[in-house]
Amino acid sequence: AAPDPQRGAAVKAADRAHVFHSWSAQELIDPLAVAGAEGSWFWDYDGNRYLDFASQLVNTNIGHQHPKVVAAIQEQAGRLATLAPGFAVDVRSEAARLIAELTPGDLDKVFFTNGGAEAVENAVRMARLHTGRHKVLSAYRSYHGATAAAINLTGDPRRWPSDTGAAGVVHFWGPCAYRSAFHAADEAQECERALAHLADVIAFEGPQTIAAIVLETVVGTAGVLIPPAGYLAGVRELCDRYGIVFVLDEVMAGFGRTGRWFAADHWGVVPDLLTFAKGVNSGYVPLGGVAISEKIAATFATRAYPGGLTYSGHPLACAAAVATITAMREERIVEHAAEIGERVLGPGLREIAERHPCVGEVRGLGVFWALDLVKDKETREPLVPYNAAGADNAPMADFAAACKRRGLWPFVNMNRTHVVPPCTITEAEAKEGLAVLDEALSAADAHCR
Ligand code: PLP
Repeated sequence: AAPDPQRGAAVKAADRAHVFHSWSAQELIDPLAVAGAEGSWFWDYDGNRYLDFASQLVNTNIGHQHPKVVAAIQEQAGRLATLAPGFAVDVRSEAARLIAELTPGDLDKVFFTNGGAEAVENAVRMARLHTGRHKVLSAYRSYHGATAAAINLTGDPRRWPSDTGAAGVVHFWGPCAYRSAFHAADEAQECERALAHLADVIAFEGPQTIAAIVLETVVGTAGVLIPPAGYLAGVRELCDRYGIVFVLDEVMAGFGRTGRWFAADHWGVVPDLLTFAKGVNSGYVPLGGVAISEKIAATFATRAYPGGLTYSGHPLACAAAVATITAMREERIVEHAAEIGERVLGPGLREIAERHPCVGEVRGLGVFWALDLVKDKETREPLVPYNAAGADNAPMADFAAACKRRGLWPFVNMNRTHVVPPCTITEAEAKEGLAVLDEALSAADAHCR
């Protein structure tokens, strides 16, 4: 469609008058009015196009407006737009069957939610009822959602204002070799020390009080942290030893983001519960859920599960999931994500890192990458302080603005930029985005020592 700045101004004005935005001081924000989107791109009413290196909130794994997913939603809306969760519905049954087929091990039953936080919320509830224990362990450097249990599990500053202190959550340090909490010299030592630390936390908290350990398989928003070889297997072993439920949160990492259907597939680890959302249907209609192992499902075989949602397994969302999974299989989109990561994004980002003093580390896989930006490669001092705001955050704000001026929509969190485009991004688009990052990082270099 032709640019229509007047329409854009009207959309913006109504937004500013009436929409209350997430995570924001309402008078200090200036949301971009978006007119449309397709594939890896979206555009505003003034005719500016943006290559979406953030996949919105890391959810449009299949890209914008995939025709098969759009058609499935339209078809479902015409046939049966809504139905309560108590009924058996063809698209819900099929979505659950497909998800069970893809999830690892014996995770063969699916409880549907409207998003990731509700999935985490219900996984914790299941673990507590299954074990009869209350405490839950989760990692610093994590994000699990913004509802009560999920925000308390979260290990970043978004928890602070909502921390009830009564949620029964205990945080521990997960592995992060580049910024090791254990002064480890390498990945193997980081793994060994992180597992020893977790074993100590369990011992001192009392294993018999711990219902679950909740971990992101690959930590997402808090830094794209890939677990060292052996770490997840070690956590699995600790859970087995003490009868603790192992929950893997794959809300961001799942459905192709890491170049596998689930990140757990990279390490052959099977959790007791696996939470998902985002990529399951690329967010075309809100959907999330918990994939449940046989042993936990058995707890609720003759005892009622005390949880539910009016829209659990909503037909429009499930139709979108069936179409998304089917299209991803037919078009080999997960394989494409792995290949573009290995052949284009990884090498391209490493090359960029060599040229820029501000790039401390490149890490990732598939279409899930982070650049850890620093003031000094030697000391690894972050380019901006932890949780910086206002003037302190200027280097990152300047970098983001430089990307946007050049038509790239970046994902920025603290001192990092994440490269998280759709799994469908083409080689040419990926290279175009990398070239913009390369230029924009010069703005950040100016803040190095
Ligand atoms: N878990 C992880 C790992 C996430 O990345 C997110 C969102 O970014 C959530 C949970 C929360 O999902 P939602 O925003 O759909 O509630």
